[in-house]
Amino acid sequence: MAKITINNLNKLYAGGHHAVKDLTLESADEEFVVLVGPSGCGKSTTLRMVAGLEEVSSGTIEIGGRVVNALPPRERDVAMVFQNYALYQHMTVYDNLAFGLKNARVPRARIDEEIRRAVAILGIGELLGRKPRQLSGGQQQRVALGRCIVRHPKVFLFDEPLSNLDAKLRAQMRAEIKKLREQAPTTSLFVTHDQVEAMTLGDRVVIMRDGVVEQIGTPLEVYNQPASKFVGGFIGAPHMNFIDLHLDGETGRLRTRAGDISVPPGTQNVSTLSAYGGKTVTMGIRPEHISVGPPKRQNCTIQAQIAVVEQMGSEIVLEAEIGNNPLTVSRVDPGFKVQAHSEIPLNLDLSRMHFFDPDTGRAIR
Ligand code: ADP
Repeated sequence: MAKITINNLNKLYAGGHHAVKDLTLESADEEFVVLVGPSGCGKSTTLRMVAGLEEVSSGTIEIGGRVVNALPPRERDVAMVFQNYALYQHMTVYDNLAFGLKNARVPRARIDEEIRRAVAILGIGELLGRKPRQLSGGQQQRVALGRCIVRHPKVFLFDEPLSNLDAKLRAQMRAEIKKLREQAPTTSLFVTHDQVEAMTLGDRVVIMRDGVVEQIGTPLEVYNQPASKFVGGFIGAPHMNFIDLHLDGETGRLRTRAGDISVPPGTQNVSTLSAYGGKTVTMGIRPEHISVGPPKRQNCTIQAQIAVVEQMGSEIVLEAEIGNNPLTVSRVDPGFKVQAHSEIPLNLDLSRMHFFDPDTGRAIR
């Protein structure tokens, strides 16, 4: 078992592209850390540098207290699961699982024992005699996981391992990976562009954008206290709503183009905005923190035009507008009567509003 410590890691590709910028991250032993962000933000490059598949431009990577920058992949004691499974097509499942151990001259009886343990965890005992092409995508991915488990590496590295699977199988494999974590706890770095995977799998989540770490935190921290507008918009579905508001320096009221949002003096969050008096701030509020019906305490109510009503059975999702600002409202009771093109009051939960600097995008706290 081992910690991963990454200090001021940079990657400049030959063409001059600065793919990873000053990334610093420390994982605890057996912690499951997820790197998440849009395509091209530098997640895979980071993972590949930890694996030793990509050279480091500057900075250090330590695994278990040892700097591994100069070590080849096989000496780092890491096991990597790839998106395309990377199984040997001409070998049976058993031989795929045994391959790394045979190469390391592990005795046959030990190999058998390790494979028995791995197939029990992954439920693939009946597949041992098959070749990869006789397996479904999910089964191939299980074999790829099994190949890592049998080696007892210090660290598991996952590079978008669920991206090739359909939605149902992805959910099943997420549960499978959670089970694997309990039965074979191992320090892990997991790369994905899918915020649901990040939130459901990670002990902590690292949100990256353009090579830079925007925020590191537990799933609840990044959901409840996004450090930037980008994080607020990236984590959560449907996406956080953003409205640019003018903060009246005299009255402390927030003005939208549709009218004022009257905020009681001393309201949490809003009272931190004093420095923005007379200026514009970006307010963020999640669709699930806007409600219809009688307002509660800590709500402010504004009239909104309803553009689209989406009846999902379990909830209604509303696409609304305040002034010219689009606003999504979710988790509306499916029995609520509302028509497109009508005007209804919406209650915004003031305690769940987030404020961001419109220039830097950083949270105002
Ligand atoms: P992610 O995994 O977040 O999708 P990557 O780490 O694969 O992103 O890539 C980060 C950035 O580096 C992208 O802009 C990508 O085009 C660029 N990049 C990746 N590999 C190379 C390479 N071998 N040479 C030059 N640029 C690269």
